[in-house]
Amino acid sequence: MNYIGQDIISSDLGQMSPIEGMKFLSKQNTLRRPINCVGIALHGGQKTSLTLRPAGANTGIVFRRIDIVGSREILASWENVVDTRMCTTISNADGVTVSTIEHLMSALAGCGIDNVYIDIDGLEVPVMDGSAQPFVFLIECAGVLELDAYRRIIKILKPVCVKVGNKMAELTPSETFSVTFEIDFDNEIIANQTICVNMVNGNFKKEVARARTFGFMHEIETLRAAGLGLGGSLDNAVIVEGNKVLNEDGLRYNDEFVRHKVLDAVGDLYTAGSFICGSYKGIRSGHALTNSLLRALFADKTAWCYIDLGEETTSGGVTNDNLTKDLISVSL
Ligand SMILES: [Zn+2]
Repeated sequence: MNYIGQDIISSDLGQMSPIEGMKFLSKQNTLRRPINCVGIALHGGQKTSLTLRPAGANTGIVFRRIDIVGSREILASWENVVDTRMCTTISNADGVTVSTIEHLMSALAGCGIDNVYIDIDGLEVPVMDGSAQPFVFLIECAGVLELDAYRRIIKILKPVCVKVGNKMAELTPSETFSVTFEIDFDNEIIANQTICVNMVNGNFKKEVARARTFGFMHEIETLRAAGLGLGGSLDNAVIVEGNKVLNEDGLRYNDEFVRHKVLDAVGDLYTAGSFICGSYKGIRSGHALTNSLLRALFADKTAWCYIDLGEETTSGGVTNDNLTKDLISVSL
């Protein structure tokens, strides 16, 4: 692929370190031990405690609202996404919800975690520093444990695209998992930014994980008036006012804004329930459109197939040998 004039982040699979390759090969992972953090909820502003706990094979990513009695498990699945305004919110059948899951989901995808229980004592995942990096750090501190079960990945077989106005999101077949994103803001600092990140060789951690969420000063005042964004501050978001970044230390990447959109897309795509072998492209996309894209994908059985990485041969004439290599890329 040649994206002329765009920032391309890609690496040769041949440069993959054996350790990284082995770590994410065909088996499912969980955490080695539980780990906890406490942070502020972006919208509600309250202190929230989060504990990541090891889970068995095929559990998936399961949130548990430990502050309530009874039905409190919520599977992080595209089918359970009930609200995509400002952040991604999931709900179980009894209407128990958890919000702002996308940065944690992104970190779990980026670290190759297939199975985990996420115990949380409030409505919202804490915002931490506004990026996925604190969650990546937590996962790395807990350690990654390989389980005796093979992964199943989603192979994109034909293009699927959703459009709303001038916004677009699509998935196309590819031998790796990559995310291309374009944003276009009527603002001097952000303006038009495009990036393509091929999720191989630790690119997620190096190029995406540290990108923070962002907002405009004038929007924050409106949000606050509506009782939202109460936990938001310069400690957990890049705040833009006119042609200035208000954060004292400036940006973490020159194009931090579009990289954060990539981070969100990786997290939202992980609600597919498996790693995706395919290319995502988003133009002015966001949580809502990525969820619509997954709904469109799963509604068309000819557009994708599961591939069990433990099987000798796979459907669609793709050999497992190729897919084992693909998975390294899928594992970011
Ligand atoms: Zn975000």
